[in-house]
Amino acid sequence: MRTGLSVAEALAVVLDAAGRLAPETAPAADALGRVLAEPVASDRALPPADNSAMDGYAVRARDCAGARSGSPVSLALAFEVAAGGSAERALAAGEAARIFTGAPIPPGADAVVRQEDTDRDGDAVRVNVTPGEGEHIRRRGEDVDEGETVLVPGTCLGPAHLGMLASLGRTGVSVVQRPRVAILSGGDELVEPDADVAGGRIVASNSYSLAAQCREVGAEPTYLGIARDTPADIEARFRAGLAADVLVSSAGVSVGDRDHVRGVLAKLGAGMVFWGVQMKPGYPLVFARFDPGPLVFGLPGNPVSAMVTFEQFVRPVLLKLAGRTRLFRPRVRARLATPLRKQPGRLHFVRVVLERGDAGLVARETGNQSSGVLRSMCEAQGLLIFPAEASELPAGSEAEVQVLDESILREEASGLEA
Ligand code: AMP
Ligand code: MG
Repeated sequence: MRTGLSVAEALAVVLDAAGRLAPETAPAADALGRVLAEPVASDRALPPADNSAMDGYAVRARDCAGARSGSPVSLALAFEVAAGGSAERALAAGEAARIFTGAPIPPGADAVVRQEDTDRDGDAVRVNVTPGEGEHIRRRGEDVDEGETVLVPGTCLGPAHLGMLASLGRTGVSVVQRPRVAILSGGDELVEPDADVAGGRIVASNSYSLAAQCREVGAEPTYLGIARDTPADIEARFRAGLAADVLVSSAGVSVGDRDHVRGVLAKLGAGMVFWGVQMKPGYPLVFARFDPGPLVFGLPGNPVSAMVTFEQFVRPVLLKLAGRTRLFRPRVRARLATPLRKQPGRLHFVRVVLERGDAGLVARETGNQSSGVLRSMCEAQGLLIFPAEASELPAGSEAEVQVLDESILREEASGLEA
């Protein structure tokens, strides 16, 4: 088993171990955020027929040559076509048909004149403009041609894609399965949130933050509960999670006498891939894999370490399993509000808030950076990367920040528009 990998090495290893999951059929209406696993071709033309883009009158453009305000052309009002209706006959020379948005263009007509550009006069209509041929007509197939491939595999389905699937009459669609993630907390001190915490017990909050991190990327968490610090209990709970795609446990991965996770995984026959990543928070990360069976992340127990290691390694793996192509958070460059110092060796992920300064974004530490201080994660809008070999980042210097709160980016974007 490898130990002491750099963050980049560890990331490459875990991503290499993850492949796209198999496809399944999902109701198209529920497929928001899912990744398309089939090409979607159209069995129809959209729109299905030439139709009017305006409320007004269908005409023969040549009948209206030279028409303008003050010198209109008068046409006989022949019939009416409503949306969902059809023309009762072809339009003859010198005629206009009343037409509404979305209604099919009658045979013989080749333009639509907007209602605003006409005056109604009993059974006649005066046209005050010269329409161009094809004006205000939406052509059959101008959106989608029959037989055309409209959506390609790998598309992450958004609202417009679901509208398109509906337009094509699709009620079911083949999408990549959602990653199923089994989550386990481990420790004799841990209890559930509704339990008595007398005697120094603490709530197994990691199960809740990690399950939410799964849901945020569309994965399906299931909860295996709290394992006591015995090999037998940890083993029983790991076994209960072997049908999942990914097993995520927290705690029990350090070098203490009660840290049994690595031993149990090895006993169960998992391939032990690495232990220990040169990062802070979160050094004692275990990565193992069952084959066949789940990828296993034994995350450190401290609440911030668990979340940050999930963020760096589990999240991109879940996105890759789900068939997504963008696996990483957006990054921005920001100037440090205050200097940062550390020993060289490990990459630090510094929890920061991002403020807009005169010269771009400013990153400010959220306060106490201890790996047990979950409050600092509540406030964090980004994780600033303090490179492994660096020992000092002066105030005002620039650093890269992984953006956790993307509303920051949207604010920046609207600032540019203004
Ligand atoms: P360990 O890795 O078992 O040494 O745990 C490190 C620290 O994380 C200890 O203070 C634990 O109490 C805490 N911890 C472990 N598991 C959890 C959990 N599921 N939720 C919150 N804190 C935890
Ligand atoms: Mg423990």
